[in-house]
Amino acid sequence: MKNIILTGDRPTGRLHIGHYVGSLKNRVEMQNEGNFDTMYVMIADAQALGDNHDNIQKIRNNIIEVAIDYLSCGLDPNKITLFIQSEIPQLTELTFYYMNLVTLSRLTRNPTVKEEIKLRNFETSLPVGFVTYPISQAADITAFNANLVPVGDDQLPMIEQTREIVRAFNSLYGETLVEPKAVLPKNEVCRRLPGTDGNAKMGKSLGNCIYLADDEKTVNQKVMGMYTDPNHIKVSDPGKVEGNVVFTYLDAFATNEQIKKYAPEYNNLEEIKEHYKRGGLGDVKVKKLLANVLNEVLTPIREKRAYYEAHKNEVYDILFKGSDKAKQVAQQTLDKVKKAMGINYRDILKQ
Ligand code: ATP
Ligand code: MG
Repeated sequence: MKNIILTGDRPTGRLHIGHYVGSLKNRVEMQNEGNFDTMYVMIADAQALGDNHDNIQKIRNNIIEVAIDYLSCGLDPNKITLFIQSEIPQLTELTFYYMNLVTLSRLTRNPTVKEEIKLRNFETSLPVGFVTYPISQAADITAFNANLVPVGDDQLPMIEQTREIVRAFNSLYGETLVEPKAVLPKNEVCRRLPGTDGNAKMGKSLGNCIYLADDEKTVNQKVMGMYTDPNHIKVSDPGKVEGNVVFTYLDAFATNEQIKKYAPEYNNLEEIKEHYKRGGLGDVKVKKLLANVLNEVLTPIREKRAYYEAHKNEVYDILFKGSDKAKQVAQQTLDKVKKAMGINYRDILKQ
């Protein structure tokens, strides 16, 4: 069997450089390697309603922004299927059947969900729709028979939840669903890129992002305001590299060629780190290097973005065509699921 790949993002804001290194870059590479049968990329609008049901306009507006980010990064609708989650009602139906296979305590034990509940102050009034979103992710993944899911590491508990649902379903109703595997970025720092404020995760809902759509000036400003080592006050002070977000981003993005181009007095990042640790290397110099590196990565993405911004109808066409195609596949899975469960009454009663 060849691979079937599925991933997605919540349209809660434009995509940021954490998405890029955490998942998007992997998707584009997999797409271009071509070692797959089908690749689906989903804009998870229905899932995003779980914590945004009172702000639908935000979700609606960001569907196009996320789609433009995808296309600007090189996702190619001729090679993959791009679609909108709520266009596929079969996903909701699958979610409903899978709900019987999961307990509430299992859902609230999920470490990512736990963190998100705290962040959103949902402790005392937890919306049912929000806490069940890992079940809807299981529906998204299994509906397309995906075996590979490229994600950042905050999604590992979701993939595990999907695997449990698949095993429970298959053992109860017979071998029907495919058990998926997470694909993490090889470079460990890319699995959860921290925020510009030093927070453990860059997140759309956390306001600590550098967006793929940010222009050069904004990137420069954000980098200059980034968290470093608070004890590195004078240039001559020895500095810490661990937990210093500027160095984490350099680890995630900078190539040796870029180091030589923008900081020719060094041969590689290790030499820069050593100099910083010894003392004598100022934050501003390292930040300038990072801004150059990021702008080099973002320039081609920005250029493509300008095209799609001016051709939004083309983007909507891509999304709706993709959704039509995805719907057919999801219907086939739903038919299989209902048959396995024995609730395909029309077929049974006709016999
Ligand atoms: P929100 O704050 O609204 O949840 P988000 O920034 O977490 O938004 P999602 O749409 O939830 O973005 O995540 C989409 C994908 O991007 C997931 O695979 C997730 O693991 C990955 N991802 C998100 N943030 C990061 C990050 N900081 N580093 C690496 N990967 C990330
Ligand atoms: Mg998230």
